Amino acid sequence: MNTTTALTADVLVIGFGKGGKTAAHALTDAGRRVILVEESSAMYGGTCPNVGCIPTKMLVHYSNSRRLEDEAQEFFANSIEGVRALTSAFRAGNFESLDGKDTATVLTGPARFIDSHTVAVGSEPDQITVTAPTILINTGSAPILPDIDGFASSRHQVSSTELTQTGTLPERLVIVGGGYLGLEFASIYRHFGSQVTILETADRLLPNEDEDVANVVRDILTGDGITIITGAVVTAIQDVDSGALIKFAHDGVARTVETDAFLAAVGRRPATAELNLDAAGVNTTERGAVVVDEFLRTSQPHIYALGDVNGGPQFTYVSLDDGRIVIDQLLGNGTRSTSDRIAVPRTLFITPPLATVGLTESQARQQGMNIAVARENVADIVAMPRAYTVEETRGLMKFILDTDTDQILGAAILSIDAQEVINTVALAMRQAVTATTLKNAVYTHPSSTEALNEVFDKVIA
Ligand SMILES: Cc1cc2nc3c(=O)[nH]c(=O)nc-3n(C[C@H](O)[C@H](O)[C@H](O)COP(=O)(O)OP(=O)(O)OC[C@H]3O[C@@H](n4cnc5c(N)ncnc54)[C@H](O)[C@@H]3O)c2cc1C
Repeated sequence: MNTTTALTADVLVIGFGKGGKTAAHALTDAGRRVILVEESSAMYGGTCPNVGCIPTKMLVHYSNSRRLEDEAQEFFANSIEGVRALTSAFRAGNFESLDGKDTATVLTGPARFIDSHTVAVGSEPDQITVTAPTILINTGSAPILPDIDGFASSRHQVSSTELTQTGTLPERLVIVGGGYLGLEFASIYRHFGSQVTILETADRLLPNEDEDVANVVRDILTGDGITIITGAVVTAIQDVDSGALIKFAHDGVARTVETDAFLAAVGRRPATAELNLDAAGVNTTERGAVVVDEFLRTSQPHIYALGDVNGGPQFTYVSLDDGRIVIDQLLGNGTRSTSDRIAVPRTLFITPPLATVGLTESQARQQGMNIAVARENVADIVAMPRAYTVEETRGLMKFILDTDTDQILGAAILSIDAQEVINTVALAMRQAVTATTLKNAVYTHPSSTEALNEVFDKVIA
C-alpha cells in the first residue's frame, strides 16, 4: 500500500548548503520548527565540506607536503584516506548538530515542489510531503558537462568529486578549462606527481585579472611542470587502448593529447532542474538560476533562494552571507541586502595562492581613475622574510590606489598566505582605511601582512 506522510514546519529548507544550514540553526535557536531536506546522505553539510572547499584544500596541503622519497601512488592513496576521514567527520557533525535539535528535522531524499508551499521528498511508497509558510531554496550548483563528441561515453572522464575521493593517482591528467577549479586541480595533481595538461579556450589564463598577474600565475604553474595550452578548443574525445585521446584545435591546427583521466572544469550551473519550480511559481533565468531581489526573495515572496542556486558568485562565504540576509528577513529588521557587500575577496588556491579583491589595474584605468600601482615581486620584498622562512618566494603583490583619495581600489596578491592577507586589505577597503594607514600600521613579524609596510611605501611618500 502506498503511503505518504504529511509533515508541516514553520520553515522548510531545501538543500544542506552553507546559507540554508546557517539560517536553519538561527531559526531553530529562535524557536521555529525547521525541516531541512537534503537529497543525499553523502552531502550533509553541502558541497563545501564534502566535495568542495575542504577536500580540495586538504589535498593542496597534502600535495605540498610530499617529499621526493615518498612513493607517489601510496602517498596519494594515504592523502585521500585523510580527506575521507575529515569529510566524514564534518558530515556527521553537520547532521548531528542540526538534526539533534528539538525543533529541527533533517529528511534525506530529493525534494520537488508540488505547489508553492509544499514539496514532496522521495517517491512513493515512502514519499513524504512537507508544507511550510516559508521556504528556503539552497540546492547549490552542478558541473556543466560540455557537449563534446565522445565526452559523456568516455571511461576516462572524472568529476571533481571523484578527484577528491578516488585513491588512484592518474599518471596523466588533462583538465579542460583553466578557471578556478581547473587550475586548483592542476596544481594539486601536479604536486602529487601526475603529468598535467590544461586546455583553455581563452587566449590566456585568468582573463579577468591583469595580464602581468596572469603571466606570473602561468609561469609558476608551468615552472611546476604543468603544460598549459591556451586558445585550445576541444573538439572530440576518443577512448583508445591506452587511455583517452583528447582532440583539440589550436591555431587552426588539429592536435591531440592522450591521457589516463580528464576533468571538464568548464563551470557549474545552478541546481534547479529537479525542483519543479514551475509548480511553485518560482521564476528562473535562462541559465536556470532562481531569480531573486537584493533580499533574496524569489518571485514568490515567501520563498527565498540562497547560495549558488541564485546565480551569484559561487563561494561558500557568499552563501553564508546570503544566509545572514535571510535570517535578517525572518528574524531581524529586514534591511540587510546583497548591495551591502563591498570588496568581496576571492582566492584561487594554487601554490602559492592568488587572492584578489576590487578593481584590477586595467579596470581602474578604463574607468579613468587617477591611480598609482604598487607592485613588487615577493622575492624582492625585504620586509617579508616569511617568504624565505617557508621557502616559498614566488609570486607578486600588486595594489591599485586612488591617488585622489588614498583609498585602495583593488589588490592582487599571489603569495604565501595570500588568502589571509587579502582579508586585511578587503576590510580596509570596506571601512575606507587609507593606503597610508596600512603602510604605517604595526604588523606581527615575520608575517606576510608586513609586506604592506614596504609595498605601499613604493608609491606613497
Ligand atoms: C571542487 C570545488 C572546490 C571549491 N572550493 C571552494 C573554496 O575553496 N572556497 C569557496 O568559498 N568555495 C569553493 N567552492 C564553491 C563552494 O563549494 C560553493 O560555492 C558552495 O558550497 C555553495 O554552497 P550553497 O550553499 O549554494 O549549496 P551547496 O553547499 O552546494 O549545497 C547544496 C545542497 O543541496 C542538495 N540538493 C540539491 N538538489 C536538491 C534537491 N532537489 N533536494 C534536496 N537537496 C538537494 C545538494 O546535495 C547539496 O548538498 C568549491 C566548489 C567545488 C566544486
